[in-house]
Amino acid sequence: MADAQLIERWQHIQEKIYQSAIRHQRDPNSIKLIAVSKFHSAEAIRTLADAGQKSFGENYVQEMTEKAQKLAALNIDWHFIGPLQSNKCQWVAETASTIHSLDRLKLVAPLARYRPQTLPPLAVLLQVNIDYETSKAGTTDFESLCQLAQAVMAQERLSLQGLMAIPAISSDMATQRAAFEKVRLLRNQLAEKLNLNLPELSMGMSSDLDAAIAEGATIVRVGTDIFGRRITPVT
Ligand SMILES: *Cc1c(COP(=O)(O)O)cnc(C)c1O
Repeated sequence: MADAQLIERWQHIQEKIYQSAIRHQRDPNSIKLIAVSKFHSAEAIRTLADAGQKSFGENYVQEMTEKAQKLAALNIDWHFIGPLQSNKCQWVAETASTIHSLDRLKLVAPLARYRPQTLPPLAVLLQVNIDYETSKAGTTDFESLCQLAQAVMAQERLSLQGLMAIPAISSDMATQRAAFEKVRLLRNQLAEKLNLNLPELSMGMSSDLDAAIAEGATIVRVGTDIFGRRITPVT
């Protein structure tokens, strides 16, 4: 995609977020856009970073690490949003500001151990499997969510910020909103139980952005509507 077209699509998404926020009585500045760049080139990321996009989301550890090295001069804010194996925690801890996909206890200690002292604590969002889909990662019950949250809270090098979810695909706004509402209520329940402020709700992608914003998303993760369709891995 030509640079000008990419920038235009990115601006269009920003406008969409702004309009959606206004429509749902939200402060547009309370919603952060993560540009999901998986399978797209480091050059496409550079184009948007030069245009002012700060945060990018990646799903694969090696792909994120390679892009981060290539683009080190740009001070990009990397968000890891994909499934993580425990033997790859070091790369996420060293590269990302935030992990959206923490979903099991086994990842907690290695992420904390490898978080460099020179960086602020790694921001953590816990992934919840809100529609109980077997194909998706994330905790499915409140008990395991609490255990996971407490394990993260016990680590000085991790900072628990909220929840992330990828609901089942639906093109119906009411269905989309019902799923996101469940995520918000779960966040409220968890915050109350742990007596903790959990400000972040990472929810909403290209196809359900408006519903997520209506239900309180503070972070939206948009790939296709910015970069176009994903064909094959770049790296
Ligand atoms: C790929 C991906 C996205 C972006 O999805 P689009 O539909 O392309 O906007 C968002 N979140 C996660 C976790 C992803 O894996």
